[in-house]
Parts: sequence; structure tokens; C-alpha cells
Amino acid sequence: MRSFLNKLLGWLLGRPDPRITCRRAVWESGVAELARRTKGRSRESGAFLLGRDDGGPKQILEFVFYDDIDPHALDSGIVHFAGNRLPILWEHCRKRGYGVVADVHVHPGGHGQSASDQADPVMPRAGHIAFIIPDFASREARPGGIGMYEYLGDGRWKNHTKEGSGFFHLTVLA
Ligand SMILES: [Zn+2]
Repeated sequence: MRSFLNKLLGWLLGRPDPRITCRRAVWESGVAELARRTKGRSRESGAFLLGRDDGGPKQILEFVFYDDIDPHALDSGIVHFAGNRLPILWEHCRKRGYGVVADVHVHPGGHGQSASDQADPVMPRAGHIAFIIPDFASREARPGGIGMYEYLGDGRWKNHTKEGSGFFHLTVLA
């Protein structure tokens, strides 16, 4: 019902569907937690973004922070997630009935992808979305001010950053 109301609102305002959505409260508390986990801007932090992908806009419902699954993920200062911890994530997804719809990590500086961000997608699956939040997430992190990239497969990415909330929409209702 709530997502129906969002759809109706978008239709009334003449907006096409975004590719991915998140409740504003979920996004803001997740981003605040990412900022906290940089330990005073001394290291990057990141999270898997779990939710639903039912054919319409992907829906982010939960942040699962890398260092909660792999306690050493942030040790080097650059996010590095150990693949042998992934079964813990899959088990969590199974319990919730969610999938990994996107990922997010913070950068010390801008929101462009690094060479390793491009070379190692968190989920190497076409359609996976990666967000990059600049400045250790110390400022407001809204669509338009964050990096938004879609993995196309075969090492290729599409940059959706300039599409802002047309691509990633923060919702109030659902
Ligand atoms: Zn990066």
C-alpha cells in the first residue's frame, strides 16, 4: 500500500520511477553510522545494502556494515572485505528474506570510483549499484551529492551520479 502511494505520488508529479529507493530515515541513520565507523575520519567504512528487488525500483531496507560481518574489513584504512565471511551475510539475507541490492562506502575525498572500486565490484553482477559518499560522510549525503554507479558486467560501469533523485529516491512513505 505504501509503495502504491509512492507510485501514485510519482505519477501525479510526472516523475518516472527511480531505479532504487530508500526510506529517508533508514538512509540517514545508516549514513550517520558509516560516519561514526570512520573513527574520526581516520579510515573508510562501508555497508551492504539489503532489500527487495521485485522488478520495479529496488528497495533498500537495511544497512549491514562490513565490519559487523568481517571485523577486519576496515583495518587497512581502505575497505577490504574477506570473501570467506560471505556465508554470514547470506545467512542473514536468508533469515530476512532480503537480497543485496546495492553497496555503499565512504571516501576521504570525492565520490569518484577508484581503480580498485572499478576492478572489484562488491557484487560482480550486472545491475548491482554502488554508492560512494564523499568526505567520510561528514556532510549531508543526498542523491546529487554522492557517487552512484551501476555495474554492467565485464568490468564496465555506468555513472548515474548526475541523475540525482531521478535515479535514487529517498522516500518518506515507504
Ligand atoms: Zn572507493
